[in-house]
Amino acid sequence: MNTFGPPKLVLERGDGARVWDADGNEYLDLLGGIAVNVLGHNHPALVTAIADQATKLVHVSNFFTTPSQVELAERLLGLVGAEGQVFFTNSGTEANEAAFKLTRRTGRTKIVAARDGFHGRSMGALALTWKPAYREPFEPLPGDVEFVPYGDLDALAAAVDDETAAVVLESMQGEAGAIVPPDGYLATARSLTTEHGALLWLDEVQTGVGRTGDWFGYQASGITPDVITVAKGLGGGVPIGACIGVGAAGSLLQPGNHGTTFGGNPLATAAALAVLDTIEKDALLDHAATLGRRLRDAVSGLPHVRDVSGRGLLIGIGLDTEIAAAVHDRSLAAGLILNACGPARLRLAPPFVLTEEQADRAVAILAAVLKETPL
Ligand SMILES: *Cc1c(COP(=O)(O)O)cnc(C)c1O
Repeated sequence: MNTFGPPKLVLERGDGARVWDADGNEYLDLLGGIAVNVLGHNHPALVTAIADQATKLVHVSNFFTTPSQVELAERLLGLVGAEGQVFFTNSGTEANEAAFKLTRRTGRTKIVAARDGFHGRSMGALALTWKPAYREPFEPLPGDVEFVPYGDLDALAAAVDDETAAVVLESMQGEAGAIVPPDGYLATARSLTTEHGALLWLDEVQTGVGRTGDWFGYQASGITPDVITVAKGLGGGVPIGACIGVGAAGSLLQPGNHGTTFGGNPLATAAALAVLDTIEKDALLDHAATLGRRLRDAVSGLPHVRDVSGRGLLIGIGLDTEIAAAVHDRSLAAGLILNACGPARLRLAPPFVLTEEQADRAVAILAAVLKETPL
C-alpha cells in the first residue's frame, strides 16, 4: 500500500555505515534505518548471532521460554539497574501498546503526554501521539490523553493530578528532530508522578540502547522511571521491542492481560544480545558521545544552520529557511543519506560504527549542498 510514498532508492547491500543501491552507487548512511542499525550493516557479530541461533531455534511460542529470552530480560534490567519484569514485542509501537495497557491496570485512565511527541501508529500508540495529521483521520482513539507542551515544567505540574495513571515522555523527542528538554524536566516529571501516585513512563524507543551515549536517554537525568519502552536499536535491525516494568509496575499485567505470538522469540533476542555485547565490548557508548559532539560542532558552522540539537548520535539541525526537503534530495544525489524531519529541520541518527573519517566526509557533503542550495 502506498503508505510511505514512492521509495527514494532500491538498496541492495551495506557494510558498516555504507550502503549500495541496485545500480552500484555508494552512500554514507547517517540515518541508520531511522536509529535502528546501531551496529551498521553486515556487522559480523550480528550476522554470526543470527546465523548461529537459526541453527538452534527460531521460534517456540510463549508457552515456553529460551535461554536468550531470559538472558536479554536480565541484561535489560541490569542496564536499568533495578528489579522488574520485561514484556518483549516486535516493534516500538507494540512496546508502547503494552505499556498503555499496563497503565490501565493502575485503576486510573488519564494519561499526560507531550505535544510534538511520537509513540507509534496503532490506535493506542496513536492516541498518545500528538501530531493532528496522524491522529485526526483515525479518531475516535482511546481517550483520556492530555497533551502538554514538551519541556514546560509548569504545564506538566498543572496537568498531573491524583487521577493521572501515567505521564509518557520521550527523554529527547526523536521524530520532532532531536529536541532536548531543559535541565531538570525529567527529574520534575519523576517527582510529580511520585507525588501523585502516577507512573512515569519513558519512551526510549528512539533514544535507548546507547543512542545518546548512555544506555537510556533518561539516565543523564539521574532518575529511574516506572516503565521504559525500547525497540529501534535493540535488535540492530531484527524486529524486537521491550516494555520494561520497574519494581511494582512490572507486575501490573497479569496472566491473560496481554500477549504476542512472535514477541521475544529466540532469533530476535539472540540478535539483541549480540547488539548489547558489541556496544559494551567495542565501547560504543563513548564513541557515540564523542562522535556526536564532533558532528554537532562541525555542522553548527555551516551555511543556513540556525541551531544544532541532540545528544550522542541523535542530532537535529535547524535550518534558517524551509529547504530541508531540497537538502535531503541533493545530499542523497551526492551520496549522503540523512532525514528531513520537518520543513526546516534535518535529523541524523547514524550507526555507532560510523568512523571519524566518515563523519567528516558526511559533513563535507552536507556543507557543499548547503552552500549550493538557493534560498
Ligand atoms: C519509532 C518510534 C516509535 C514506534 O516504533 P515502531 O517500531 O515504528 O513501531 C515509538 N516511539 C518512538 C519515540 C519512536 O521513535
